[in-house]
Amino acid sequence: MALLEIRDVVKRFGDFTAVNHVSLSVEAGEFFTLLGPSGCGKTTLLRMLAGFEEPDEGQLLLDGQPLNGVPPEKRPVHTVFQSYALFPHMTVEHNVAFPLKMAKVPADQIKARVAEVLEDVRLTQFARRFPHELSGGQRQRVAIARALVNRPRVLLLDEPLSALDAKLREQMQLELINLQKEVGITFIYVTHDQGEALALSHRIAVMSQGQVEQLDAPENIYSYPKSRFVADFIGQCNLLDATITEIAADRMKVEIPGVGTAEVLPVAGATVGQQGTLTLRPEKIKLGATLPANVPDEIHFKGKVHDCLYLGDVTVYIVELENGTRIETMLPNAAPGRARFFDDNDQVELAWRFDAGHFLLA
Ligand code: ATP
Repeated sequence: MALLEIRDVVKRFGDFTAVNHVSLSVEAGEFFTLLGPSGCGKTTLLRMLAGFEEPDEGQLLLDGQPLNGVPPEKRPVHTVFQSYALFPHMTVEHNVAFPLKMAKVPADQIKARVAEVLEDVRLTQFARRFPHELSGGQRQRVAIARALVNRPRVLLLDEPLSALDAKLREQMQLELINLQKEVGITFIYVTHDQGEALALSHRIAVMSQGQVEQLDAPENIYSYPKSRFVADFIGQCNLLDATITEIAADRMKVEIPGVGTAEVLPVAGATVGQQGTLTLRPEKIKLGATLPANVPDEIHFKGKVHDCLYLGDVTVYIVELENGTRIETMLPNAAPGRARFFDDNDQVELAWRFDAGHFLLA
């Protein structure tokens, strides 16, 4: 049985539907992420799990027990908010003890439980420090220790890292991954940052307009997006309109304006003449001044560099084809002393394998 089940949940605000018939389940010990653009309903879904909002329809079950109607403080979940909201005038141990004091737990039990949870998050030697005497990562651990002290079944994390700069955010992501592994508790994490979702999660539910567009492991979401929305929202992706011209058991042929006839992996339910979109990640495309032609399983064609975007480790090259189609590609800047391989207006050749992309039916 799944730890948490969301069954056909709907939440409306007036005549606006913020969460529209969402069903999903989360396994014990999972790092599960709700990902989507602003306004897609992810926070509303998290707030319903916390008990701050009630669903208009559907059921929420934890360990098979209904959560609907249970007040927030009676639910075995705990929410960690953005920037952690530690009490600045309290030491680490007093911050962590706070929820137990509120629940009027006897002092000796509080002491034992706080010691245990500080041990879990490796903060024992920092117990007497104040939040301003800690690093960002240690403060994150205090917030999580405080959230764990009541032994919740699930931690709900609402964009906890969104206020941090990129460098610190990466450190905190690594901390979070390790912490979740160490304490083994189920995390439900809300973010609009696709990189963060890919880096942290065991599984991701990509949401759009109140619905789950795709629920899968990060690698599958990235490599096999099920819709144009998911392909476009997660990382950089070329979306090339194409028409199916031939279908065989192990390949389909598609006509891509400006590129030519390309082979792609077959898709269930496809018919000849049908329109669709080939989704192709920039790093799956080969790029060179010249590339060998007639390589089996590859399509090969020419273009001209339109823009270069130097990013340090890689350079992104936007290549324009004769018909004006632009294709985003990238190359690592591995060669020593060489900032980039091409400049604007250079003639280049491109190629990709039949299995480099993923075809979506229109
Ligand atoms: P963000 O990343 O911006 O927080 P989100 O995906 O978390 O976005 P929600 O906060 O779940 O989105 O909001 C979904 C939609 O519901 C938004 O259009 C929002 O304006 C609306 N909404 C949320 N709470 C309320 C409320 N209490 N009353 C009216 N509308 C609301």
